[in-house]
Amino acid sequence: MTIKGAGSIITCHNTCFGYDGQRIIKGLNFSVRVGDYLCIVGKNGSGKSTLIKGLLRLLNPLQGEIVFCNEFKKEKSGYLSQQTAVKKDFPAGVFEIVLSGAVGGMGLRPFYSAKEKRRALDNMDRLGIADLKERSFSELSGGQQRRVLIGRALCAAQSLLVLDEPAAGLDPLAAAELYTLLQKINNTMGITIIMVSHDIEATAQYATKILHLQNKQCFFGDTKEYLNSAIGKQFLGAEKEADIGF
Ligand code: ADP
Repeated sequence: MTIKGAGSIITCHNTCFGYDGQRIIKGLNFSVRVGDYLCIVGKNGSGKSTLIKGLLRLLNPLQGEIVFCNEFKKEKSGYLSQQTAVKKDFPAGVFEIVLSGAVGGMGLRPFYSAKEKRRALDNMDRLGIADLKERSFSELSGGQQRRVLIGRALCAAQSLLVLDEPAAGLDPLAAAELYTLLQKINNTMGITIIMVSHDIEATAQYATKILHLQNKQCFFGDTKEYLNSAIGKQFLGAEKEADIGF
């Protein structure tokens, strides 16, 4: 059976992902709809990155199915991985890095088109990094570097941005700025966002939907509903205790 809700980009139906036949996450039953800002939460090792691989079509389901809507093509998703793909001291300019997001859509053409350059500049404007255009990536702060990488992902994305712990390693202020920026991208550009974060307290202010994993789907629904649920309250409490070093 296939669930295809109106406006759904991706739907999982009794889906299970894992490696070499060994199940890591099971019982996935959720849909990502156009315009969602979905945050995937759960403890370390709960299968969040494994699910991201499934959503990016790098892993096939071991059981069940994952359905992608017709219009949603692989090249339309932008991805920012947990291990930053550009080293912090990478000797390249900001514009060059943002523009390189377009490479996946260029086929065999060996140069960037004027449209791709315009798009990179527009994305830099939106991300508040236009004034960094001529700077070297290695000179930037952690928060600025993260914006540049989001700019690159946006040059690859047309409808979906997938981010694995985008605020990892940033101080709380820079992390809040990043989440606000993602909310702006979601609201103004209509880009659907799927983000893994362990920082439920911060992300709950921005995400519209929450998917909580613990090697199976423990919750999927609206953020408000999650925060009022037993599992939401428990997870939020546990994260707070971890933050203050209990
Ligand atoms: P999370 O992102 O929630 O920390 P992961 O999806 O990274 O969790 O990992 C979930 C489990 O899957 C872990 O036990 C991990 O060791 C295992 N795992 C992750 N990647 C692989 C892999 N390539 N091959 C086999 N097991 C893996």
